Amino acid sequence: MDSSVTAQGTSAAPYFAAIPSTLPVCRVNVLRLPLFAALALLGLAMCSSAPEPAPRAFVATDTLDSRDGGTIRLGEPAKSRLLAEDPLWERALTLHYDAIVTDGHIDTPSLMLDDAYAFGTRHTPRSGSHHVDLPKMIEGGLDAPFFSIYVSRTYGEAPAATDRALAMIAEAKRQVEALDGIEMAYSTDDVLRITRSGKKAALMGLEGGHALRGSKDVLRLLADGGIRYVTLTHTNTNSWADAATDTVRWNGLNDTGRDLIREMNRLGVLVDLSHVSDSTFYDALAVSEAPVILSHSSVRALTDHPRNITDAMLRALADNGGVIMINFFSRYIAQDGSTSATLDDIIDHIDHAVQIAGVDYVGLGSDFDGVPFLPRGMGDATRLPHITYGLLKRGYSDDDVRKILGGNTLRVLAEAERIGAKLRGER
Ligand SMILES: [Zn+2]
Repeated sequence: MDSSVTAQGTSAAPYFAAIPSTLPVCRVNVLRLPLFAALALLGLAMCSSAPEPAPRAFVATDTLDSRDGGTIRLGEPAKSRLLAEDPLWERALTLHYDAIVTDGHIDTPSLMLDDAYAFGTRHTPRSGSHHVDLPKMIEGGLDAPFFSIYVSRTYGEAPAATDRALAMIAEAKRQVEALDGIEMAYSTDDVLRITRSGKKAALMGLEGGHALRGSKDVLRLLADGGIRYVTLTHTNTNSWADAATDTVRWNGLNDTGRDLIREMNRLGVLVDLSHVSDSTFYDALAVSEAPVILSHSSVRALTDHPRNITDAMLRALADNGGVIMINFFSRYIAQDGSTSATLDDIIDHIDHAVQIAGVDYVGLGSDFDGVPFLPRGMGDATRLPHITYGLLKRGYSDDDVRKILGGNTLRVLAEAERIGAKLRGER
């Protein structure tokens, strides 16, 4: 959900300006010891208050076979029109529907809870919503989105915030469980099993760490309910983490925030760093034992917005083994905003993230049903095959496209599950 960012417009800019794009780097010249030992120790002490992300000897091994063997579900005459347009579409469509396509963030559950939105019925897209439903998932080859369990900042850190999350989880499950073509998924194995059976899989993530109310018990309650990631903040700084678009209160994470991340690691719940401040991002990387995600963020080198991430952050993300899932929101992918963005801008952001971080660390996080403007050519989930075509057109291999469509996201989810099981002493 990013519509509330839109309402704020560029008011976040002063906060962004206050956040350094890189953290101070502390180095101690050991050759000058002991003469400068005292100074060196002082330097080390100062370093500890601004942790750099720990370098990890992470080698991306896409051991998951992210294929479900699906067939082309695009209807006629659209399919024939595309094939007549460019023979490359034959390869694009075969690849797209055969791949497990994930999406880090769709806000449809808010509609389901508040507007009695029937997920199994086809809806005509309208401004800002009705981008995803089951028929559109089937047509667009979207196999396993994360349903965003979004809690508005207006709930604050009151019990009502947690109640709101629980109510949305219950409604999402109620609707999904009543439908034939889709099942709830709570693990990577679930996603593989469900999608290979020809059905769609729905995962869930919590957006808005304030709903945890700083409590590991609440985190465990929501994880039991099925959430598989927590976006540490929404647009608001909360009692344990700073947001990208709000006041700096902790200069990143405080001790409660670090404890919550350790518990997420233990539970196998992914740490989602979309919406957080740059300092929170680096603090989270320093703490998290599992790879992290950005469920719906784009790149700042192309579109200067505090919700997007810098090239330095992209490199740190790759060191961590995580994934950035590129947000389609027009304001995040085109500098001049709402009306000029096109599908090509999405591909540009994917391509830039791949150039800087590597092809193993990039995925899709549309923000469908959570943003007021989408780029021309990407009006709803039925348009997703155009991402596959756009990447092939730029020379990407089938294997690399499959990673971006979902392989990377599934790898990170599996890795978080593996580390969680290890921390719980189960493996
Ligand atoms: Zn959001």
